[in-house]
Amino acid sequence: MTIAATLGYPRIGPRREWKAALEAHWAGTLDAPGLDAAGAALRSRARATQRGAGIGHIASADFALYDHVLETAAALGAIPDRYGWDGQGPASLATIFAMARGTRGATAGHAEAPAMEMTKWFDTNYHYLVPRISAATRFRLLQNRWADAVAEGLAENCRTRPVLLGPVSFLLLSKMDDGTTPPLSLLEGLLPAYEAALRGIAEAGASWVQIDEPCLVTDLPAGAAAAYALAFRRLADAAPGLKLLLATYFGGLRDNLPIAATLPVDGLHLDLTRGRDGLEPALDALPPDRWLSLGVVDGRNVWRNDLRATLAMLRDVRARRGDRHLMVAPSCSLLHVPHSLAREDAMDPALKRRLAFADEKLAEVAALARGLDEGDGAIAAALVDSDRAMAEWRADPRLQNVKAAAVTPDMAQRKSGYPLRAAAQQQRLNLPPFPVTSIGSFPQTAEVRQARAAAARGAISADDYDTRMRALTAEAIAWQEAEGVDVLVHGEFERNDMVKYFGERLSGYAFTKHGWVQSYGSRCVAPPIIWGNVSRPEPMTVEWARYAQSLTDKPVKGMLTGPVTMLFWAFVREDIPRREVCTQIALALREEVADLERAGIAIIQIDEPAFREGLPLRRADQADYLDWAAFCFRLSASSVADATQIHTHMCYAEFNDIIGAIAEMDADVISIETTRSRMELLGAFTRFDYPNAIGPGVWDIHSPRVPGAEEMTELLRLATVHLPRERLWVNPDCGCKTRGWAEVKPAMRNLVAAARVLRAEAV
Ligand code: GLN
Ligand code: ZN
Repeated sequence: MTIAATLGYPRIGPRREWKAALEAHWAGTLDAPGLDAAGAALRSRARATQRGAGIGHIASADFALYDHVLETAAALGAIPDRYGWDGQGPASLATIFAMARGTRGATAGHAEAPAMEMTKWFDTNYHYLVPRISAATRFRLLQNRWADAVAEGLAENCRTRPVLLGPVSFLLLSKMDDGTTPPLSLLEGLLPAYEAALRGIAEAGASWVQIDEPCLVTDLPAGAAAAYALAFRRLADAAPGLKLLLATYFGGLRDNLPIAATLPVDGLHLDLTRGRDGLEPALDALPPDRWLSLGVVDGRNVWRNDLRATLAMLRDVRARRGDRHLMVAPSCSLLHVPHSLAREDAMDPALKRRLAFADEKLAEVAALARGLDEGDGAIAAALVDSDRAMAEWRADPRLQNVKAAAVTPDMAQRKSGYPLRAAAQQQRLNLPPFPVTSIGSFPQTAEVRQARAAAARGAISADDYDTRMRALTAEAIAWQEAEGVDVLVHGEFERNDMVKYFGERLSGYAFTKHGWVQSYGSRCVAPPIIWGNVSRPEPMTVEWARYAQSLTDKPVKGMLTGPVTMLFWAFVREDIPRREVCTQIALALREEVADLERAGIAIIQIDEPAFREGLPLRRADQADYLDWAAFCFRLSASSVADATQIHTHMCYAEFNDIIGAIAEMDADVISIETTRSRMELLGAFTRFDYPNAIGPGVWDIHSPRVPGAEEMTELLRLATVHLPRERLWVNPDCGCKTRGWAEVKPAMRNLVAAARVLRAEAV
């Protein structure tokens, strides 16, 4: 019989219950037993939902207090010294949260400790905490969170399949303290902890365990093949009778197929939404008795599955393999999609019929498994429903590819090269050396958020809301002018969110009411859905820009979110290639840029904080992406005259592998985040000989600390070591929306003071 399976389920709760519980716990209003109970209730509900939907292999231990990688590290004994762990039993809640969030102020004999480093989980918008390990790390099983999860399920009569992050991926995702020894060298020391975990899982009563090795879809470092062979030989022997499912996802195995196919496991899970072309070779390579788990329901996107087409493919596979050792599953954990469509009552019904969130995907998985075993008749209603949705979708006039405006290469080319443009801009703007600016937003205070909420409720009129936002803008302009800022911003008070604000003004975008997806810890995002052709019915920001500019003689930057960021911070339609969607967005922004220029705006900033995020996992795919992404940016920006200055901004400075594409974007000025690295990251720009102007951030806006002018001066002097003075700007690392005025005011004043010192220093 075909097994319907899940690889993981959303943790945050359909009403973000976990977010509420975590934040109450951190605020001191929910004690540890209360937090525990909240988690247990969510897990119980998740099991019941999956079981009710007809899932046979229900994932467990996919839940995490904060992050599953962090809690895997803690369970295996990889806990850095400074987080208050006594070195004995399992890490306490306090230790886990100290690792995740840092500690404020010294506590009981321990100095203040910063949070562990957080980074993106492969190419998703989920973030994990990077385990810190060293040759001195004593790996041992401190807590069998996987066996505990199995026992918890069995207490409710539900046998689950616990999920472990596999040992090789665990090490490859970790960082060594010394930064030089390869983490895989610690494998031997790590394996006994995994062996103990598997024994405990078997004793707890599981029959299958899922071992996630997502690194198998990436370019592996030297030694990885041997590490996999060693690790899985040991794991296979650890608990005879316990079946191992090796799970790979976020892409196809490609050249790593020979590694995966020869490991001594009982089953292999393949992501067939992103690695479809890997199916044939896998069918050839896998021994006939190996279970094959087919990840056919997309765990990374919100579109409904075409059940009939998928079923046809599944039948092919079964015919080829001539056996019934098959599982049907989502491509990856459902962590990356929202919980359920059930409460989306304000959505366009036609769009809603095209969607499937986690709970709807469970039903798809179960229907596919059943249809495979029992034939179409057994799932007739689901098939009819799916067919109807697909047909309706294909016939939707709004989707017929409206004749895309002809895009020609010259549209993505500024009229002149940077040196000529720089001269024209300087003539127009007459800026001093080391011009001072900020990244765009000013504090979104309680006042701003309350006004927005009141407007949404209808408690204040749209006009009233506008008037308040205008008043804040006017104040911000007057204040910047008084402080001596050279290039002003309007403050973005009127914007809820840099993607949502634009998405709401573009056609082709839709928003959910409850479509929350965990980003990290208690932080969730509700990505918009790009379902249709994107276009701009009318100007989006021009009135605000015009108003702000009318208040001052200094230049005020027009502020836009770039096409690549608009694309990656959304769930995107898949009936046309992503680059095409990105091109549509770029063309819409291009119209906005032209309107801003016509309105007399001399400087336009097009933010691209997600530019790097879109980078494909495999090196072989990266050049192509960088090429179209940079092209789309230029398409949005390049219609302007030489004397109009284009800025961009990115919230990081790790540009080593993409610096060529950054140069290709050809923005006149780029602002980046460099404070924490003390300008070290500017090295990429120096080595590349980056030709345009740069504003390296000299104030870390992620911290409430206000740096003094001397500190900023020092950083700027460091920057002049890397880059010519005449191409340097002075700005914070990022927007100030999360800070308070009590920090922003003195910090901006210091920024201006630091720039003045640099100006006065003879070259
Ligand atoms: N202009 C935006 C702001 O200042 C940029 C935010 C970002 O880079 N994420 O808030
Ligand atoms: Zn930023």
